[in-house]
Amino acid sequence: MPSPGRGSPYYSLGSKRRKMIHGSCLCRKVRFRVDGPVRELSHCHCSQCRKAYGSAFGTIAVVEARHFSYLAGADLIASYRQSERVTRYFCRNCGSKLPIAESWDPLVGIPAELLEGDLGQTPSTHIFVGSKAHWWEITDSAPQYSEWKPAEDFNERFAEIKKDE
Ligand SMILES: [Zn+2]
Ligand SMILES: [Zn+2]
Repeated sequence: MPSPGRGSPYYSLGSKRRKMIHGSCLCRKVRFRVDGPVRELSHCHCSQCRKAYGSAFGTIAVVEARHFSYLAGADLIASYRQSERVTRYFCRNCGSKLPIAESWDPLVGIPAELLEGDLGQTPSTHIFVGSKAHWWEITDSAPQYSEWKPAEDFNERFAEIKKDE
C-alpha cells in the first residue's frame, strides 16, 4: 500500500479531499483506520501523559469519532481507568498505548506514533505546558497553552455531554 501523501489517490477521491490513515500497535494485532483528516496534532505535556507515554510529552492526533474504526484486535484492548473522566487503553499483547475513543465523545485522541504515513500536518500546539517536564525545553514556535487549548477542552466536552444523560 502506498503511503498517503500529497498527490496520492487518498487525497482526491471524487471532488472531496479524503484521506485514509491506518494505525496499529507495536505487535500489529490491534489495527484501526481513520477515514478522514487529522484535525489537530498536539504535544501534551501533562504529568499523566508523560507517565503514560514514558516520554517528555505525548503527541496526540485528534480525529472525529465518526471517521475512526477498529479493524482488528478489539479483544486485545485492555484499559486503565485513570479517573472518572479519563480511561487509557493499551494492547494486552505488546503494551502499546491505544486511541482514547469513548462512546460519548465526538473526538478520538490517537497516540500519533501509532499512525502510518503522512498525517498532512505537523504538531500545531503544545498543551499543559504548565506541567511540563523541567528537563525538557520547547524550542519550536507552535503556540503554547498552560492547560487545554480553549476550543478543545476535554473536560468541557465531558461536562456538556454528561449533563444531557
Ligand atoms: Zn499490540
Ligand atoms: Zn496529557
